[in-house]
Amino acid sequence: MCSFKLQQVTQTTMNQTLLWFRQDFRLDDHPALLRAIKMGQPIVPMVILDPSWFEHTRLGLPKMGRYRARFWKESIEDLANSIEKTGGSLIVREGLPESVLADAVDEFGIHSLVAMTYPGTEEADTEVNIESAVPSSCAIQWVEGHTLLHTDDLPFEIDDLPKVFTPFRKKVEKEVDVREPVSAPSKISWSTHVVNTPWQEVLETSQLSTQAGDWTRDTRSVLPFKGGESAGRARLDEYFWQGDHLKVYKNTRNGLLGANYSSKFSPWLANGCISPRRIWSEVKRYERERVSNESTYWLIFELLWRDFFQFSAWKHGEALFHAGGIQGKAVQQEPNKEKFQRWAEGQTGADFVDANMHELNATGFMSNRGRQNVASFLSQNLGVDWRMGASYFETMLIDYDVASNWGNWAYNSTVGHDPRNRQFDVARQAKMYDAQGRYRRTWLQESLF
Ligand SMILES: Cc1cc2nc3c(=O)[nH]c(=O)nc-3n(C[C@H](O)[C@H](O)[C@H](O)COP(=O)(O)OP(=O)(O)OC[C@H]3O[C@@H](n4cnc5c(N)ncnc54)[C@H](O)[C@@H]3O)c2cc1C
Repeated sequence: MCSFKLQQVTQTTMNQTLLWFRQDFRLDDHPALLRAIKMGQPIVPMVILDPSWFEHTRLGLPKMGRYRARFWKESIEDLANSIEKTGGSLIVREGLPESVLADAVDEFGIHSLVAMTYPGTEEADTEVNIESAVPSSCAIQWVEGHTLLHTDDLPFEIDDLPKVFTPFRKKVEKEVDVREPVSAPSKISWSTHVVNTPWQEVLETSQLSTQAGDWTRDTRSVLPFKGGESAGRARLDEYFWQGDHLKVYKNTRNGLLGANYSSKFSPWLANGCISPRRIWSEVKRYERERVSNESTYWLIFELLWRDFFQFSAWKHGEALFHAGGIQGKAVQQEPNKEKFQRWAEGQTGADFVDANMHELNATGFMSNRGRQNVASFLSQNLGVDWRMGASYFETMLIDYDVASNWGNWAYNSTVGHDPRNRQFDVARQAKMYDAQGRYRRTWLQESLF
């Protein structure tokens, strides 16, 4: 018997606003939520579990692997609980967003649909499909809100985004103010709809739950990553305020072992559990209350890197996924399956690369230093098509984000925004960043016995 109380479906003829939480599982500083509130109608909050998340890539792997799936599931649970605390009830549906939303317009008497907009070709296709599926009686509003800077505030059109990061950074640092984050209102006028399948039941029986699976975290993982806005805010509190790690971030950020060499905010940022502007405002508070130094600046510097890749993905669209990248360069990289497989399994014989791949496979996370090395090694040392690596990361990373992933992969494979030919000497890198071999011992120990 179902353990959840079944409720009656109530058809409504009211004018309501549907707020679709896409990959922004939070209430704090959520521009689409604020826009929905402005509409002045009851808000129907919805998450859609899209089966296309699990379609297989050319490598024969699901796009969303188990690490991200569990993180997303936990994030949705946390969002549902937060909505409940403010008097609402999250609706979770499974299906293609365009079909689910078209049906919801009738079912809930929706006159406005509000959601965040994202870069990425699949994301853009989804928006186009929704626009043609949803009846014209329902106005659709796509709201920007996952970056530190708003594109309306940039001193150039997105098509004129500088080719290289440094001129971009210098220009925006001089000319753009970050918009202050806006806290979630304590009272939200959620719809009083009732549905006959509670969110818990839909989530538990979904493909997302199946993909999330039931596995035990590897004890060597840098952090026990848990999805959700609450866990994201707790991590921020721990890293900035309790542990006071921000003041040394610039010196530690190239580390490989442990929770605090870097912020580890990426899974929460990538899945929208925390707003980059909230992180920015906490850095500013830290600078006022504790210390302002190169490290505090550097965290914002990294958030600008993130923005740069997001804007680049918006600008370049489809070209982000071409073999020659945004440069349209002729590259000598082959889709060599055998070499790729050795790399993916951490069996290349280059111990620093192998250790990093073992960490990724066992935990869904890898440091930035590691990612740069393994990407450069696959595309430049092994001469394998960089897109196989990017696609593998898409499946495996807990913090996968289309713009950051494909943009960084291209960058480290000579076809992206880097004006130089960036090839890492992995043996030298190992000496510099893992001089005592602790990192390699941690991740290669099973292959030593
Ligand atoms: C090949 C490759 C693939 C990558 N794929 C992803 C990805 O799918 N998702 C992702 O979030 N990051 C990706 N990165 C960027 C970076 O490695 C991670 O953001 C970072 O390691 C996450 O750890 P952290 O949160 O502790 O970072 P911190 O050093 O604490 O940085 C703070 C935040 O700044 C942002 N950031 C830092 N460096 C970068 C960067 N180079 N590019 C974009 N944003 C950055 C992240 O949001 C990060 O959480 C990739 C890098 C490479 C080289």
